[in-house]
Amino acid sequence: MFEGLSQKLEGALQSVTGQGRIDEVNVAETMREIRRALLNADVNYQVAKEFTANVKEAATGEDVLTSVTPGEQLTKIMHDELTRVLGGEHEGIEMAETPPTVILVAGLQGSGKTTFCAKLARHFRKEGHAPLLAASDVYRPAAVDQLKTLADQVNAPVYSIEDDGEIVEDAVRVANEAVTEAQNTARDIVIIDTAGRMHIDEAMMQEVEDIKTTVAPNETLFVVDSMTGQDAVNTAKEFNERIDYDGVVLSKLDGDTRGGAALSIRTVVNKPIKFASTGEKLDALTPFYPDRMAQRILG
Ligand code: GDP
Repeated sequence: MFEGLSQKLEGALQSVTGQGRIDEVNVAETMREIRRALLNADVNYQVAKEFTANVKEAATGEDVLTSVTPGEQLTKIMHDELTRVLGGEHEGIEMAETPPTVILVAGLQGSGKTTFCAKLARHFRKEGHAPLLAASDVYRPAAVDQLKTLADQVNAPVYSIEDDGEIVEDAVRVANEAVTEAQNTARDIVIIDTAGRMHIDEAMMQEVEDIKTTVAPNETLFVVDSMTGQDAVNTAKEFNERIDYDGVVLSKLDGDTRGGAALSIRTVVNKPIKFASTGEKLDALTPFYPDRMAQRILG
């Protein structure tokens, strides 16, 4: 993940590594290279601009430390600024005071939403919770089957409504009844998988909104395919304006060499990234820690 970005940043930093000290001239040059590296990585223009301005200010304002080389000093400043851009502190899921904790999961079709729901169920089971999955992606029978297959692998039950073998196309009812089912069967977490479409459309937004109004989830998470770069950021922005979610899940980070979505979303949307999905396997999910990710990017 982020190999392309890491390489370019490393290249840019190398130009000061050999210098005896950090001064305004070599920092300005390095910052130009870093800005280019960020824009190449499909980072939002404003984010890249602000990033380099902040690093430059910190680097030229700082006392020259004799104990570290200019390269090390600049790397540390970059690490702190990357951590800030990625969200600063880790933010997890807010659990309900009275179970079940209800988590609504939204996103475009193909973003990795259903896979994430199963991964999240696995994550909670490992922590000793008893999750129930709600199959509110009711328009494609294959989607319900996919959720059931994945749920089986993580030993979590799925709530769906069928009538004579036909899926009942009422996403709000499924979500609502799943919460009651969880209360009746001592399940302390409900994860609601919703329908996505290839592009943002009114019906999809309205349905997510209706589920949100009816079940009042403790968390609404938005899953986005990070490989789509600035498209991911724009989609994240549009969803947020409509459904005001609580956190972002960056999926398919394993295939993202550039990192543009990861580095831009927090600033553009102002919502924390809570999880990173890093593969098709169900154990490929990690809670998102901005400082660890910054470390990884800088290598
Ligand atoms: P949904 O339509 O949003 O529910 O998306 P799915 O969960 O069905 O995922 C779409 C495709 O992306 C599937 O082939 C998944 O196996 C794959 N996928 C999901 N998450 C990841 C991930 O983190 N990394 C990779 N490489 N593939 C993923």
